[in-house]
Amino acid sequence: MDEVFRTSSPPRFSASGPAPVEKTSPNEEANPKPKNEPLYQCTFCHQNLTSKSWKRHEASIHLPQSQWVCQLNGGCVHSPSKSMDGSPIDSKHCVFCGILDPDNDHFESNHRSAECALKPVAERSFQRKDHLKQHCRLVHEGFVPNNQVLESWQVQADYSHHRWSCGFCGEKLEGWDERAKHIRKHFQAGLTMADWNSEKCLETDADGLFNEFTEYLE
Ligand SMILES: [Zn+2]
Ligand SMILES: [Zn+2]
Ligand SMILES: [Zn+2]
Ligand SMILES: [Zn+2]
Repeated sequence: MDEVFRTSSPPRFSASGPAPVEKTSPNEEANPKPKNEPLYQCTFCHQNLTSKSWKRHEASIHLPQSQWVCQLNGGCVHSPSKSMDGSPIDSKHCVFCGILDPDNDHFESNHRSAECALKPVAERSFQRKDHLKQHCRLVHEGFVPNNQVLESWQVQADYSHHRWSCGFCGEKLEGWDERAKHIRKHFQAGLTMADWNSEKCLETDADGLFNEFTEYLE
Protein backbone atom coordinates (compact mmCIF):
# COMPACT_ATOMS: atom_id res chain seq x y z
CA MET A 1 0.00 0.00 0.00
CA ASP A 2 2.70 2.35 0.95
CA GLU A 3 4.36 1.82 -2.44
CA VAL A 4 1.21 2.80 -4.30
CA PHE A 5 0.81 5.94 -2.34
CA ARG A 6 4.34 6.91 -2.99
CA THR A 7 4.30 6.37 -6.78
CA SER A 8 0.95 7.98 -7.22
CA SER A 9 1.81 10.98 -5.21
CA PRO A 10 2.12 14.06 -7.44
CA PRO A 11 5.61 14.76 -8.68
CA ARG A 12 7.27 17.43 -6.67
CA PHE A 13 7.81 19.42 -9.84
CA SER A 14 7.05 18.77 -13.48
CA ALA A 15 9.72 18.57 -16.14
CA SER A 16 8.40 21.64 -17.88
CA GLY A 17 7.86 23.59 -14.72
CA PRO A 18 10.29 25.94 -13.13
CA ALA A 19 13.37 24.32 -11.68
CA PRO A 20 13.35 24.07 -7.94
CA VAL A 21 14.90 27.07 -6.36
CA GLU A 22 17.69 25.96 -4.11
CA LYS A 23 17.76 28.08 -1.06
CA THR A 24 21.22 29.53 -0.61
CA SER A 25 22.75 28.00 2.43
CA PRO A 26 23.27 30.39 5.28
CA ASN A 27 26.98 29.58 5.14
CA GLU A 28 27.38 31.45 1.88
CA GLU A 29 26.33 34.63 3.58
CA ALA A 30 28.74 34.17 6.42
CA ASN A 31 31.11 36.60 4.76
CA PRO A 32 28.77 39.27 3.46
CA LYS A 33 29.99 41.76 0.94
CA PRO A 34 27.88 44.77 0.12
CA LYS A 35 26.39 44.23 -3.33
CA ASN A 36 27.40 47.66 -4.57
CA GLU A 37 31.02 47.26 -3.54
CA PRO A 38 32.91 45.49 -6.36
CA LEU A 39 35.83 43.25 -5.58
CA TYR A 40 39.25 44.69 -6.30
CA GLN A 41 42.20 42.37 -6.64
CA CYS A 42 45.87 42.99 -6.95
CA THR A 43 46.85 42.36 -10.57
CA PHE A 44 50.26 41.14 -9.39
CA CYS A 45 49.55 38.86 -6.39
CA HIS A 46 45.74 38.55 -6.71
CA GLN A 47 45.12 39.56 -3.10
CA ASN A 48 41.57 40.77 -2.43
CA LEU A 49 41.47 44.50 -1.82
CA THR A 50 39.04 47.36 -1.57
CA SER A 51 38.57 50.24 -3.92
CA LYS A 52 40.53 52.42 -1.54
CA SER A 53 43.49 50.16 -0.85
CA TRP A 54 43.92 48.71 -4.33
CA LYS A 55 46.12 51.27 -6.12
CA ARG A 56 48.25 51.95 -3.07
CA HIS A 57 48.83 48.24 -2.48
CA GLU A 58 49.99 47.66 -6.06
CA ALA A 59 52.38 50.59 -6.03
CA SER A 60 53.85 50.07 -2.59
CA ILE A 61 54.22 46.31 -2.77
CA HIS A 62 54.90 45.64 -6.42
CA LEU A 63 56.37 48.72 -8.06
CA PRO A 64 60.09 48.98 -7.49
CA GLN A 65 60.99 52.48 -6.37
CA SER A 66 64.38 52.43 -8.05
CA GLN A 67 65.61 51.73 -11.51
CA TRP A 68 69.05 51.15 -12.88
CA VAL A 69 70.02 52.72 -16.19
CA CYS A 70 72.85 51.20 -18.16
CA GLN A 71 75.54 53.84 -18.83
CA LEU A 72 73.47 56.55 -17.22
CA ASN A 73 76.39 58.99 -17.30
CA GLY A 74 78.22 57.67 -20.33
CA GLY A 75 80.97 55.11 -20.66
CA CYS A 76 83.52 56.62 -18.29
CA VAL A 77 83.86 57.21 -14.59
CA HIS A 78 85.79 60.27 -13.66
CA SER A 79 87.96 59.85 -10.63
CA PRO A 80 89.77 63.03 -9.70
CA SER A 81 93.12 62.32 -8.17
CA LYS A 82 96.40 64.13 -7.60
CA SER A 83 99.62 63.80 -9.53
CA MET A 84 103.02 63.46 -7.85
CA ASP A 85 103.46 67.23 -7.66
CA GLY A 86 100.00 67.66 -6.16
CA SER A 87 98.24 69.07 -9.22
CA PRO A 88 94.73 67.67 -9.80
CA ILE A 89 94.21 65.15 -12.58
CA ASP A 90 90.91 63.98 -13.91
CA SER A 91 91.44 60.37 -14.76
CA LYS A 92 88.82 58.62 -16.86
CA HIS A 93 88.17 54.94 -16.53
CA CYS A 94 85.99 52.62 -18.55
CA VAL A 95 82.83 51.86 -16.56
CA PHE A 96 82.95 48.24 -17.61
CA CYS A 97 86.54 47.13 -17.22
CA GLY A 98 88.20 50.07 -15.44
CA ILE A 99 90.89 50.63 -18.05
CA LEU A 100 92.42 54.13 -17.98
CA ASP A 101 91.56 56.63 -20.75
CA PRO A 102 89.52 54.39 -23.03
CA ASP A 103 88.88 55.62 -26.56
CA ASN A 104 85.74 55.09 -28.64
CA ASP A 105 87.22 52.07 -30.26
CA HIS A 106 87.73 50.47 -26.87
CA PHE A 107 84.00 50.65 -26.10
CA GLU A 108 82.97 49.24 -29.41
CA SER A 109 85.46 46.44 -29.67
CA ASN A 110 85.25 45.34 -26.03
CA HIS A 111 81.82 46.16 -24.67
CA ARG A 112 79.41 46.84 -27.55
CA SER A 113 78.52 50.01 -25.60
CA ALA A 114 76.51 51.56 -28.41
CA GLU A 115 73.88 48.83 -28.05
CA CYS A 116 72.69 50.88 -25.07
CA ALA A 117 74.31 54.27 -25.28
CA LEU A 118 72.27 55.19 -28.35
CA LYS A 119 68.97 53.98 -26.92
CA PRO A 120 66.47 56.12 -24.99
CA VAL A 121 66.83 55.80 -21.22
CA ALA A 122 63.54 53.93 -20.91
CA GLU A 123 64.91 51.14 -23.08
CA ARG A 124 68.01 50.59 -20.99
CA SER A 125 66.36 50.80 -17.58
CA PHE A 126 66.05 47.84 -15.28
CA GLN A 127 63.82 47.35 -12.28
CA ARG A 128 66.39 45.34 -10.42
CA LYS A 129 70.11 45.61 -10.06
CA ASP A 130 70.68 41.96 -10.82
CA HIS A 131 68.75 42.37 -14.07
CA LEU A 132 71.14 45.09 -15.04
CA LYS A 133 74.09 42.85 -14.15
CA GLN A 134 72.64 40.09 -16.27
CA HIS A 135 72.17 42.57 -19.09
CA CYS A 136 75.84 43.56 -18.87
CA ARG A 137 76.91 39.95 -19.00
CA LEU A 138 74.79 39.26 -22.06
CA VAL A 139 75.07 42.49 -24.01
CA HIS A 140 78.32 44.06 -22.90
CA GLU A 141 80.52 41.05 -23.46
CA GLY A 142 80.51 39.76 -19.91
CA PHE A 143 81.81 42.90 -18.24
CA VAL A 144 79.83 43.80 -15.12
CA PRO A 145 80.73 47.21 -13.66
CA ASN A 146 81.84 47.36 -10.06
CA ASN A 147 79.33 48.15 -7.36
CA GLN A 148 80.27 51.80 -7.12
CA VAL A 149 79.49 52.29 -10.81
CA LEU A 150 76.26 50.29 -10.54
CA GLU A 151 75.09 52.44 -7.64
CA SER A 152 75.77 55.57 -9.68
CA TRP A 153 73.37 54.22 -12.31
CA GLN A 154 70.51 54.04 -9.84
CA VAL A 155 67.67 56.53 -10.31
CA GLN A 156 64.25 57.10 -8.81
CA ALA A 157 61.77 55.04 -10.80
CA ASP A 158 59.39 57.06 -12.94
CA TYR A 159 56.28 55.29 -14.19
CA SER A 160 54.56 58.33 -15.65
CA HIS A 161 55.44 57.22 -19.19
CA HIS A 162 55.81 53.52 -18.61
CA ARG A 163 53.76 51.51 -21.07
CA TRP A 164 51.37 48.95 -19.65
CA SER A 165 48.76 46.69 -21.14
CA CYS A 166 45.43 45.82 -19.60
CA GLY A 167 45.17 42.10 -18.86
CA PHE A 168 41.39 42.27 -19.19
CA CYS A 169 41.06 43.83 -22.63
CA GLY A 170 44.61 44.21 -23.93
CA GLU A 171 44.39 47.98 -24.30
CA LYS A 172 47.72 49.81 -24.17
CA LEU A 173 48.02 52.33 -21.40
CA GLU A 174 50.64 54.92 -20.76
CA GLY A 175 51.54 55.80 -17.21
CA TRP A 176 50.64 54.33 -13.84
CA ASP A 177 47.70 56.64 -13.18
CA GLU A 178 46.18 55.97 -16.57
CA ARG A 179 46.54 52.25 -15.94
CA ALA A 180 44.84 52.46 -12.55
CA LYS A 181 41.99 54.56 -13.90
CA HIS A 182 41.40 52.09 -16.70
CA ILE A 183 41.64 48.85 -14.73
CA ARG A 184 39.44 50.28 -11.97
CA LYS A 185 36.58 50.45 -14.50
CA HIS A 186 36.84 46.72 -15.17
CA PHE A 187 36.64 45.92 -11.46
CA GLN A 188 33.64 48.21 -11.13
CA ALA A 189 32.00 46.32 -13.98
CA GLY A 190 32.45 43.11 -12.00
CA LEU A 191 35.53 41.51 -13.54
CA THR A 192 37.96 39.68 -11.28
CA MET A 193 41.47 38.36 -11.70
CA ALA A 194 39.90 35.13 -12.98
CA ASP A 195 39.25 37.17 -16.15
CA TRP A 196 42.79 38.54 -16.32
CA ASN A 197 45.02 37.18 -19.03
CA SER A 198 48.65 37.95 -18.38
CA GLU A 199 49.51 36.97 -21.95
CA LYS A 200 47.66 40.07 -23.07
CA CYS A 201 50.19 42.06 -21.09
CA LEU A 202 53.14 40.24 -22.53
CA GLU A 203 52.38 40.24 -26.21
CA THR A 204 52.07 44.00 -26.47
CA ASP A 205 55.26 44.74 -24.60
CA ALA A 206 57.84 43.56 -27.04
CA ASP A 207 60.42 45.92 -25.57
CA GLY A 208 60.78 43.63 -22.58
CA LEU A 209 60.17 46.27 -19.98
CA PHE A 210 56.93 44.81 -18.75
CA ASN A 211 58.39 41.36 -18.61
CA GLU A 212 60.35 42.33 -15.57
CA PHE A 213 57.14 42.67 -13.64
CA THR A 214 55.79 39.28 -14.51
CA GLU A 215 57.97 37.60 -11.94
CA TYR A 216 55.72 39.14 -9.30
CA LEU A 217 52.87 37.10 -10.66
CA GLU A 218 54.38 33.90 -9.42
ZN1 LIG B 1 49.75 42.45 -4.53
ZN1 LIG C 1 86.44 48.74 -20.90
ZN1 LIG D 1 73.69 48.26 -21.55
ZN1 LIG E 1 41.09 47.02 -20.11
